[in-house]
Amino acid sequence: MHAVPIEKLIEQFEQLPGIGRKSAERIAFHILDFMSAEQASAMAQTISEAKTKIKFCSVCQNLTEKDPCEICGSEKRDKTTICVVENPKDVSAIEKTNEYHGLYHVLHGALSPMDGISPEDIKISELLMRLNNGIKEVIMATNPTVNGTATAVYISKLIQPMGIRVTRIAHGVPVGGDLEYADEITLIKAIEGRQNM
Ligand code: ZN
Repeated sequence: MHAVPIEKLIEQFEQLPGIGRKSAERIAFHILDFMSAEQASAMAQTISEAKTKIKFCSVCQNLTEKDPCEICGSEKRDKTTICVVENPKDVSAIEKTNEYHGLYHVLHGALSPMDGISPEDIKISELLMRLNNGIKEVIMATNPTVNGTATAVYISKLIQPMGIRVTRIAHGVPVGGDLEYADEITLIKAIEGRQNM
């Protein structure tokens, strides 16, 4: 239907989250029709540069340009508390509230037997390795979905025997929803109302 290079471009965009065939076509034709060669190559270079420069923080596993990341390296953060989230975007969502001053741990996903995602596939062992350095509380802030909740329960069972307090954010966050879409007040309330697990 399309020339091969166009089809290849459409297929690239189709792989992105939330982009179906129609949107992928629209983006591809926008680039070919309306962007100059310089603009298109600047965009390609930006993607490539970001991918090369951004790594996982060796401590919290969040995306970062420097290791350890700003948060792990900051003197101002409370180093006795770790807030566990599924994705880097959740860190940004909680940071925007300005109400949480502890550390984070990014799992990069949630347990999902249906999709074959088991404990070794997400950053759980990296979390456990952090727990001998004066950590007093771990806040489970995974999404309130079936997978997010199962992940929180699984991790809390591993941590509790270590004598560390494990809490779960309260259900100010809509059940079945994603943390990143919650408004700030809802997120603040959810963190304030966290409960022992
Ligand atoms: Zn970090």
